[in-house]
Amino acid sequence: MQLRQELESPPAFRRFGSGWVSGVLGLILGLAGLFLVISLRFPGLMAMPETRSLQQNIWFRVGLHTTLVTAFVLALLSLVLRRGKILGTAGATAVLLAGLIGGSHATSLVRGPIPVFLGLDFFVLNVLFTGLLFIPLERIFPRKADQEIFRSEWREDIFYYLVSSLMVQILTFLTFFPAKTILTFAPLAGVRGWIAALPFFVQFVAIMFLTDLVQYWVHRAFHKVPWLWRFHAVHHSAKTMDWMAGARMHFLEIFALRSLTVIPMYVLGFTDTAMHAYIFLVYVYSTFVHANVGWRLRLFEKILVSPRFHHWHHGIEPAAINVNFSVHFPLLDRLFGTYYLPKDAWPSGYGISGHPVPQGYFSQFKYPFASSKDTLLPPERT
Ligand SMILES: [Zn+2]
Ligand SMILES: [Zn+2]
Repeated sequence: MQLRQELESPPAFRRFGSGWVSGVLGLILGLAGLFLVISLRFPGLMAMPETRSLQQNIWFRVGLHTTLVTAFVLALLSLVLRRGKILGTAGATAVLLAGLIGGSHATSLVRGPIPVFLGLDFFVLNVLFTGLLFIPLERIFPRKADQEIFRSEWREDIFYYLVSSLMVQILTFLTFFPAKTILTFAPLAGVRGWIAALPFFVQFVAIMFLTDLVQYWVHRAFHKVPWLWRFHAVHHSAKTMDWMAGARMHFLEIFALRSLTVIPMYVLGFTDTAMHAYIFLVYVYSTFVHANVGWRLRLFEKILVSPRFHHWHHGIEPAAINVNFSVHFPLLDRLFGTYYLPKDAWPSGYGISGHPVPQGYFSQFKYPFASSKDTLLPPERT
């Protein structure tokens, strides 16, 4: 609680020289270092096979060592500067724990390959990469300049990052399972050969279009079918838009949405390079459209989905209900009659009218299954 209060301190207690910046950075880097050391100790359990070769790289060890030393120095600086000692103490403790279990020299405690793993290292890389990319963008070009990094419900949204990162193995398996099953029954060798021979750029745009087309109708069904809406309402319960908000999605919706949208991409025979490039794009793009970035992008948003376009999808206004379902091409919403983008305006707030979804990861996980008299569907547009 004390730590949370410190992180969410009002601006007067966060000014430069107050020890807040050093304390927060020390804590984040300290925890990142600690989690990476844990993943070095238990590579089979806590690290993805893809990062195991990275772990043997000398520069990874040097980077980890630098991270831990920097975190410790920042935590000490915060302890000197700040009256409240909890940030500095927590950061320094994380570094000391990381040191105790082996630090940057940590070796594996596990012998032999283990078929199941949790992506703890993926969580660290995921949050550091998206945070480093989007926090500066949101600070320099904010849509809402007074919005804090540690705004309300930030812990829930980071927890969504943690769960989907830890579960990366099972999610990847489940995501491709329906597509792989379809492929065994419908081999489509002719079509697959023809598509694989197309130039990379054509394949990339075709994947964007086909996945968005499927995503559009799945997403629209999630808004229109009462029991599906209860799952999707979790995503719409976010009252703040930023780089963390997009991660809020019910586990079963992640599975349904991803496994259905990858079907055309996987079954039609696009090359691995095109598929991997698209997966990276959608990873960054889906964070971008939720970000607290106030760019106008007038030309861009005629062709591609902008943050303003997707912010209207989350808008609290009655006019913003059931609009802007696409994630790449606004053209789909124009074609199917759900396009809504008033000139230069932004929604006045975000979320579902009456905010029926409870707070907290586990309450939100249970929400769709509970028998409740809450509004089943978003009310129709007015
Ligand atoms: Zn939606
Ligand atoms: Zn969204």
